[in-house]
Amino acid sequence: MDILANMKEVQERVAAACKRSNRDPKEVTILPVSKNHPAEDIQTLYDAGWRDFGENYVQELRNKHDELPDDIHWHMIGHLQRNKVKYIASYIQAIHSVDTIKLLHTIEKEGRKADRVIPVLIEVNVGREESKFGVMPDLEDCMALANEALELPHVKLRGLMTSAPYYDDVEKDRSIFRKLKELLNDMNAANDQLQLDVLSMGMTHDFEIAVEEGSTCVRVGTAIFGKRDYSNKGY
Ligand SMILES: *Cc1c(COP(=O)(O)O)cnc(C)c1O
Repeated sequence: MDILANMKEVQERVAAACKRSNRDPKEVTILPVSKNHPAEDIQTLYDAGWRDFGENYVQELRNKHDELPDDIHWHMIGHLQRNKVKYIASYIQAIHSVDTIKLLHTIEKEGRKADRVIPVLIEVNVGREESKFGVMPDLEDCMALANEALELPHVKLRGLMTSAPYYDDVEKDRSIFRKLKELLNDMNAANDQLQLDVLSMGMTHDFEIAVEEGSTCVRVGTAIFGKRDYSNKGY
């Protein structure tokens, strides 16, 4: 497994998708998703200059945070239970998976204790899948959270996140990504205090389409680190 070669290929595919859609590659962050992969795989990318990494599970994130260099920017992209916010509040770079007002309030409380403003994204279940977390893709539901976030001084809402369903035909994901971007534009139009500018969308199987549809952050695991080993209980 040559992680650096894989990363180079992902970068090239992002650049090509930007070219096809007349976008500047600088607008698109590649967020390597390192869940279920060992700390040394992260260190490999770190040594090549990468600093931002996405994790799904609080305990695994904490272990890696303790083990790896302090200047890594950790992103929480998985479902987050309220009673675990306190473990990551003092250093988390961004929480991509906010889907309830209660969770927003907990992040506010822990942000206040840590004396910092925590950047967050609202997770939207654009495909309305029963198995997934996230707010329904309706303007009212999203604005209820967004307007609440504006009242919280230790929370900074930056944008929206989604995971598209696993369609066999990835072109179907296009409408999901379009819908998320439309929602972001509608939210900004509904309240000009919002100024949302982050669209966290696109994974290994669909990140090129997500880039073509306006993604500013692709969360890529398998294409960079290889298949996840779920028997790896090291974390
Ligand atoms: C695991 C995960 C990813 C990365 O998935 P790959 O298909 O391996 O690229 C991205 N986003 C979320 C929310 C994930 O849980």
